[in-house]
Amino acid sequence: MTTIAERLQAVRARIAAAAHACGRDADEVTLVAVSKRQPLAAIEAAADCGQRHFGESYAQEGSDKIRELSGRGLIWHFVGPLQANKTRLVADHFDWVHSVDRLRIAERLSSARAPDHPPLQVLIQVKLSTEESKGGVSPEALPQLGEALSRLPHLRWRGLMTLPEADVELARARFAQLRRLMENLNARGFGLDTLSMGMSADLEAAIEEGAHLVRVGSAIFGERA
Ligand SMILES: *Cc1c(COP(=O)(O)O)cnc(C)c1O
Repeated sequence: MTTIAERLQAVRARIAAAAHACGRDADEVTLVAVSKRQPLAAIEAAADCGQRHFGESYAQEGSDKIRELSGRGLIWHFVGPLQANKTRLVADHFDWVHSVDRLRIAERLSSARAPDHPPLQVLIQVKLSTEESKGGVSPEALPQLGEALSRLPHLRWRGLMTLPEADVELARARFAQLRRLMENLNARGFGLDTLSMGMSADLEAAIEEGAHLVRVGSAIFGERA
């Protein structure tokens, strides 16, 4: 049986190889281990191998794990769909949110974030896929949402996230599109520095197209319960 330590090692090697292949420094890419529906012991095993960034998709489950593992110096990313009634839990426990797609959610996160915490680091999720199940704001509505979001006091807008189709070549085109959207926003004066794109099956394409955060679950932890 392959252990979490071995799979984590293999994912790190894939990241290093992909970065090398396109002339990027592997340090520019941060691995977020997506541990949704994985037990605490699996997260601890990864943390014991030096993994620091973890991603969760469910507010209650993620908050419970964060409480259990506090004191280990881990950094937590909320990557799932965000409901208005869960914004306080997320603002109280997480360091990053990748899935902001409307102003009402951003406003609630900002007002729930304790002023003595560092600002919540947020990404806007952009819908580039034509699949109904994959949410996000449209590219057309993105600048207006970003403008409003960047005025909220307890959030810091860092960049963009997308969830593409499963087909890797189609995904690559979406990743390139996300990068261009961030470049266009930066040309308008937004100082964005983070693209969250790429998962177990397509992290190489994402890194070649400029990813800074790759969100990898099954390739590290195996299949989810
Ligand atoms: C589950 C999940 C991942 C990880 O997916 P894998 O295919 O298991 O690597 C990445 N991003 C989001 C938003 C997810 O919900």
